[in-house]
Order: sequence, then C-alpha cells, then structure tokens
Amino acid sequence: MDLYKKGIIFVISAPSGTGKTTLCEKLLKLLPDLKLSISHTTRKPRNGERNGINYYFIDKETFKKMIDTDEFVEWAEVYGNFYGTSKKAINSLISNGYDILLDIDTKGAKNIKKLYPDSVLIFILPPSLDELERRLINRNEDNNVIKLRLSKASQEISQYKFYDYVVINDNIEQASSNLLCIIHAERLKTKRIDNSKIDEIFKK
Ligand code: 5GP
Repeated sequence: MDLYKKGIIFVISAPSGTGKTTLCEKLLKLLPDLKLSISHTTRKPRNGERNGINYYFIDKETFKKMIDTDEFVEWAEVYGNFYGTSKKAINSLISNGYDILLDIDTKGAKNIKKLYPDSVLIFILPPSLDELERRLINRNEDNNVIKLRLSKASQEISQYKFYDYVVINDNIEQASSNLLCIIHAERLKTKRIDNSKIDEIFKK
C-alpha cells in the first residue's frame, strides 16, 4: 500500500553523454506512477524523436509568446536552443495523481527547487571527463559539438553541490538501482505521508 501523497517532483540533470536519457527511460518503465514532464523546445527533432513524446517541438516565435503569456514554470537557453517546462505539463500530471520526472538543465533545476522546495534534485555524474569524451566520440558527435559539450560539462558538474543526491553512472544497472532507491526512500519520508490514510488504518 502506498501511504505517500503523490505529486513528488524528481529533477534529473547531467552533462550530455552521461547516460541520463537511458536511465530516465529505465525508471519510467519500472515505475508506472512516475511520468516524464514533456518540455517544449525550439531545437529540431533528432532521428526517431517524436512531437509530444520526447518534446513539443515549436518555433522561437511560439516559444517567446509562451514566455510572454507566462505559460512556463521555468525555461532556459541550452546550446543556443530554448527549452521550457510548461505549467500545463506539471499541473496535468499532478492532477492525475502521478509523480513527475523532469529531465532539465542545472539552471532549470535551481528554479524548480525555488518554486517547489519539496522537489528532489538528482545529479548524474559521468565516471570522469575522459570517459565522457569517449562516450561523446562513440556517439559520432561532431568535433566542435564535443568540445562545446565538454566545456559545458565542466561548468555543469560544478553545480552538483546544489542537488540533493549524486549518482555516478559508471555502470548503468548500478546507477539505475541507486536512482530507484532514492525514489523509494523519498516516497517513504514522513513528511510525504498522507495522514488520513494512516488514521483510516488505525482508527479505533
Ligand atoms: P537535448 O537537446 O539533448 O534533448 O537537451 C539538452 C539539455 O536541455 C539537457 O541538459 C536537458 O536536460 C535540457 N532540457 C530539456 N528540457 C528542458 C526544460 O524544459 N528546461 C530546462 N531548463 N532544460 C531542459
């Protein structure tokens, strides 16, 4: 029996190439009551990416209009593209009784923590910068892209101190099991328990 109040916001950030997407997919498969908040972005879809599944792909003008009409909980510019979490995405998941997974950058994570102090911030680290470089090379990224992502990675890694948890992804199974432990432990925190459920069980 689940005693906790649903609607916990889990934020995951990691430098590009750390394996964050694979880890998030694993979590979402294992935990049916955890749903990914689908962000809006002005970036073009990559091969295999679908509108409404990976992102809502929109143009810059539409994104700016959404900023003006205050439709985002947070937004940021990453690698020259805009990314944002809409209020609608969060509210519809909360009202449907789900916990929420946000895969967003470090700036977005800090903004979420300010707005939702009970949110849980998790930072995924690569085993080392050399290993991160190897992974980016294996992904056949362009040389300039690799340089840009590595320099951004160093900046991002320095932000891990603002997070509640740090997970090193040197082994995907171990890292995903650590993430599961974090989520389970957070759900069991006394502050998240729905007291009325306990009262119901133990009423005389
Ligand atoms: P990608 O283009 O590789 O999918 O994502 C690039 C970066 O943007 C990643 O670090 C990802 O976590 C971040 N990102 C994706 N969606 C959002 C969002 O809604 N808000 C913020 N702040 N960052 C996002």
